[in-house]
This record gives sequence, structure tokens and C-alpha cells, in this order.
Amino acid sequence: MKPVIVWFRQDLRLADNPALRAAAATAAPLICLFVLDDHAPGDWAWGGASRWWLHHSLTALDKSLKGKLVLRKGDAATTIKALVKESGAEAVMWNRCYEPFAVERDHKLADVLEKAGITVEITNAALMHEPWALKTKTGGKPFRVFTPFWKTMRGMDVSKPHPAPRNLKHHKVKSDELKGWKLLPTRPNWAKNFDWTPGEKEAHDALYDFLDDIGKYGTARDLPACSGTSRLSPHLHWGEISPRQVWHAVRTHGHSAGSETFLKELGWREFCAQLLFHNPGLPTQPLDKRFAKFKWRKSEKDFDAWARGQTGIPIVDAGMRQLWQTGWMHNRVRMIVASLLIKHLGTHWREGERWFWDTLVDADLANNSANWQWVAGCGADAAPFFRIFNPVLQGKKFDPKGVYVRRFVPELNEVPDKFVHNPWEAPQPPANYPKPIVDLVAGRNRALKAFRALKG
Ligand SMILES: Cc1cc2nc3c(=O)[nH]c(=O)nc-3n(C[C@H](O)[C@H](O)[C@H](O)COP(=O)(O)OP(=O)(O)OC[C@H]3O[C@@H](n4cnc5c(N)ncnc54)[C@H](O)[C@@H]3O)c2cc1C
Repeated sequence: MKPVIVWFRQDLRLADNPALRAAAATAAPLICLFVLDDHAPGDWAWGGASRWWLHHSLTALDKSLKGKLVLRKGDAATTIKALVKESGAEAVMWNRCYEPFAVERDHKLADVLEKAGITVEITNAALMHEPWALKTKTGGKPFRVFTPFWKTMRGMDVSKPHPAPRNLKHHKVKSDELKGWKLLPTRPNWAKNFDWTPGEKEAHDALYDFLDDIGKYGTARDLPACSGTSRLSPHLHWGEISPRQVWHAVRTHGHSAGSETFLKELGWREFCAQLLFHNPGLPTQPLDKRFAKFKWRKSEKDFDAWARGQTGIPIVDAGMRQLWQTGWMHNRVRMIVASLLIKHLGTHWREGERWFWDTLVDADLANNSANWQWVAGCGADAAPFFRIFNPVLQGKKFDPKGVYVRRFVPELNEVPDKFVHNPWEAPQPPANYPKPIVDLVAGRNRALKAFRALKG
């Protein structure tokens, strides 16, 4: 039999993988392929932290495939066309990606392959519902507001996940060496403290650990000092686990206020995906067009202090250092650091979006751009611009004893709890910690003035 190519992308798993399942059902020998394609347009080639994750996730996938994963590097479409020729494959199967450049590339590739008589099968592995499946009741348009989107989505059936196909047969072709791709950082090895184990098995372990505590999710999810969230985001992004698997595991585990809140977060993930699909300019263009004229400040010094966790504002610095040290940041803190950058420092949200893209292990074009726009007030169903987080009050509310900030900002170890979020007001401010780079009242007023100017 002629071989069938399964093109793995952001679906690095065997179970509930429709493309792999369809390919296995043909009983043909498979070429399980991953292509390292660094040709993403704009700023959207994989960032450093994503590449770290990818290295380990591919290692895990190769192990699950008993060493049969085929690695190739180059422009994805060119590489696949060449491999079809080289191997005599009769079919290519893959699961959809929804980044605008991936949609365009995949359409073109499918077209060329089909014209050459190759069977192409494209399936959905990354979302519970295709981005075009949910429409507003009145206008039949894509949703721009989350609540009605969620109401509609919550009422829809989610198809049951499938187990991994067994006894896969493989067709032998040559493969690159993963090591040769140099996805891991070396000098310096900034990932040495990353506390993650990528892979399909580990994704399921993380889910089942989290389910034990899901009842408390409603309150624990806002407290960055405790591990109250699932930490599934990089596993979901890379498709080591499917949202269908997570959804059904949560539903089977039992109903609670916490489980309902958690399912809603999976709803946000779907909402962001459909926003990007229907608004391909989302990563660079404000959805609220008025913001195209916003007068942003440009200060490299401020941006550097923010990125390095040296703003002198503890909760912000803790978040940015957590990001640097672990490749991940708690959601509440992501909102706080983004708000400070955009509002108090007046920096364009795209600068922060780009930094996150490079440093997050869960960097995801839809979630990242939709959330940056959400904080900036220019996105869909966004927090209004004039609602400006006060990072000191946020810190006091969500990290009252300073456990989180002290974990990442040890300079604050000796500062009493009362001043841990505003050490500049302590009787003896720590000598080795910077003073705030921005006066919070003045920064807020400057932001509001810029916003009023926008309204004209
Ligand atoms: C400025 C900013 C940038 C962000 N960038 C990203 C990003 O690049 N990639 C990313 O996956 N998430 C991003 N988020 C959303 C959110 O912070 C993370 O998904 C979450 O912190 C991941 O941790 P968790 O898996 O423990 O989440 P949980 O609280 O356990 O939630 C479960 C899952 O729901 C989804 N989810 C939760 N919150 C959101 C949200 N606000 N928007 C979309 N999906 C959500 C994620 O897939 C997450 O894994 C961003 C948020 C902000 C404010």
C-alpha cells in the first residue's frame, strides 16, 4: 500500500487526534511528520520559550510513536510536496490550525495536492467547535461579546474524544535529528528553572491533579501564591491534550461551582480562537478602530524595566520574573502587568504582546492578542480603558501576605506585610530594590488624558 502522511502541528498527541485516527483507519503505512517551519510572517515565528517546549514535546511524541516520528525542516508546503514525491504517498492528513497565515498556507497546499491527485483530509483537533459554527441569533454574525457566545456554546454538544489508534504501521523515510534543530537555549540557558514536563501523558497527569481541587477553582484561581489553576495552557496550545478531553473529564468528574467556572475559561479559549479567525488582523490591529490613533509613549528604559521585573512595583516585578524564570505567569498577574505597561507607562499593547510571545511557553496567537487587546480596552468585550488596575490594591487583595511577591522578589523578604506591595512607603525601604519607575497617580492621570484626547 502507498503510505499516508500525517502532518502533526499543534496536535502533539496520539489520543483524540482525528487526523491520525483517519490515517490509521486506511490501514496504510504512515509517515508521522513534523515540519519545523520558521517562515511565519511578521513577528510570529515561534518564540524562545515555545521552541523549548516544542523540543521536549516532540521528544515525548517520538517516544509514543516508538521512535518513528519524522522530522523535516523548511517551508511547510514545499517540504510536504517534496515528501509526497519522495515517498509516493497517496494521502496527506492534518488537523486545522487557525492562525491567519496557517489558514492561507493550508488552503493553498490542499489545493495543489488535490490537483495532483493526492487525497487530503483536514479535521479539527484544537477546538470543541469550529470558529464558524457559532453565530449570533439575530444577525447570524460571529460573536463579539463573550456572554451570549458562552450561553450558545454551553448549550451545544461536545463530541466525545476517541482513544489512540493501536498497532500503527510506519513507512520508513529519513528524518532530521531533533538536536540539530537547536530549539533549546544554551548560552545562557534561561530555561534551566522551567518546572514543566511537556508531553501527552504529563498533560493528562496535570488535568487529573487539578480535578482533585477543581471545586475550589472559583476563588483559588485569583490567588497567584497558590496553585489554584490547571496550568494546562501550554499542553492545550501544543495539543498534547484536546479541549474535548478536558471538557468531558471535567463533566464526568462531577458538577460544582468551580467546575462551571473552569468550563467557562475553556469557553474564553474558544471565544479568542473565533475572534482571531474572523478578525485576522487581531494580532496587530485594534478591533476598536478609534485606538489606531492612540498616542502611545515610547520609552525603551521603561519597557526594559518592565520586562526585567525592575519597575519597583512588587506584584508587577514578581509576575515578570515568574515569566522569565518559569515561562508562564498567573492569569491575574498577566492582567496587572499588562495594565501597568499599557496604561501607567503608556506603551503600545503590541510591545507587551511581542514580549509575551517570546517568553511564554503557552504563547498562542489567538489568546495572546485577544487578551492584550482586552486589557488595552480596544478588543472585543474588553475592559474599558478607563478601568485602570491599581497594582498596589490588586497585590493587597490577591496576595495579602505577599507570599507570591516574595517568592520572585526576594529583596522584599524583610519588608513587613503591610508594605510588601508598596515598599517605597515603608519606614525602611529595601536598599537593593528600585523605587517605582512611575508615580501611580500621575501615570493613571496621563493615561486618562490620552484616552480623553482619543474620544475627541
Ligand atoms: C495579557 C494576557 C496575555 C495572555 N496570553 C495568553 C497566551 O499567549 N496563551 C494562553 O493560552 N493564554 C493567554 N492568556 C490567558 C490566560 O492568562 C492563560 O490561559 C492562563 O493563565 C493559563 O493558565 P492555566 O492553564 O492554569 O489556566 P486555567 O485558569 O486553568 O484555565 C484553563 C484553560 O482555559 C483557557 N483560558 C483561561 N483563561 C483564558 C483567557 N483569559 N483567554 C483565553 N483562554 C483562557 C486556557 O487554555 C487555560 O489553560 C493571556 C492573558 C492575558 C491577560
